[in-house]
Amino acid sequence: MIGLNLADIISQIKDKAGLSDEEIKIKISQKKDRLSGLISDEGAAHILANELGIDLMESIRKHGLKIEKLQSGMRVGVTGKVVKMYEVRSFNKNGREGRVGSFLVGDDTGLIRIVLWDENHILKMENGDIKEGVVMKIENGNVKENNGYKEMHLGNYSTIELNPSGVEIVIIQRTEPQNFSGSVNEITKLSDANAGDNISIYGTIVQLFDPRAYDGCSECGRKAVDGKCNNHPGAAINKIPILNFFVDDGYGGMRGVAFRDQAANILGLSEKEIQMILDNPVKFQEVKTKALGMQKVLSGRVNSNEMYNRNEFMVRSVHEMDAKEVLAKFLN
Ligand SMILES: [Zn+2]
Repeated sequence: MIGLNLADIISQIKDKAGLSDEEIKIKISQKKDRLSGLISDEGAAHILANELGIDLMESIRKHGLKIEKLQSGMRVGVTGKVVKMYEVRSFNKNGREGRVGSFLVGDDTGLIRIVLWDENHILKMENGDIKEGVVMKIENGNVKENNGYKEMHLGNYSTIELNPSGVEIVIIQRTEPQNFSGSVNEITKLSDANAGDNISIYGTIVQLFDPRAYDGCSECGRKAVDGKCNNHPGAAINKIPILNFFVDDGYGGMRGVAFRDQAANILGLSEKEIQMILDNPVKFQEVKTKALGMQKVLSGRVNSNEMYNRNEFMVRSVHEMDAKEVLAKFLN
């Protein structure tokens, strides 16, 4: 079922039918037994919900989907809080003139860029109704994907309700960037980045995937073969973390990948701390909520991923930088 996983379905059954987790699990496994195991837990939970007269789509229709569940091609709603405003820009493309506005909205699962094409919506950005910190409920937004990066586009058929009543306010912790004392040579716009480029960008971490790990050399990070590194046979073998994420700099978005200490830096953890979350999804959720929405200067290389036909940003270093410092670099 679109946008609902087993945990979502169970929690709806729990709320609406008043059953305990234990009772629901038993009913799901009975359902599976009766169907000779030909059905997944999720499928069985879905059937159970139908039998109990629970409309699983009701909450999606009412409140939209969580940001991490949004998929390209959906026309759907979402509820979140504005965490970053971008400028309204004018365009003149193929004889078509107009304006486009955008900003980032977050909930407890991620952030997504909202792109406005309707003048009535853009005016709300200009008159200050839409600003950082405002909670909004969007209906009929189109989820599109550009280079693997998801955005929600709103047209005149879409609605934006500001400060909707009865909506729990979702808070993304946004860490203000600290002063960066090192030197970042040049900040590139993500929209200008091509495969093969070595770039530094200043952007917001908008989506984080569960970190993975492989067994690798503690000295060079190379994958261990038969329990040791070919180059450093004496070195210890550690779990080397890999973190996939999306970053948005206001001009574009790109999928990024960071290894080892860079993965830890993106999450704001020490190398020891990241080891502790590798096998602990609950702990990762806590860290994720804090790391989403953080602004960082990331340096590295843009690689072309042929299999997925998209560019990916391989992070080589992570810095904190003051927004004023970045602005000065853009103006130079
Ligand atoms: Zn090695």
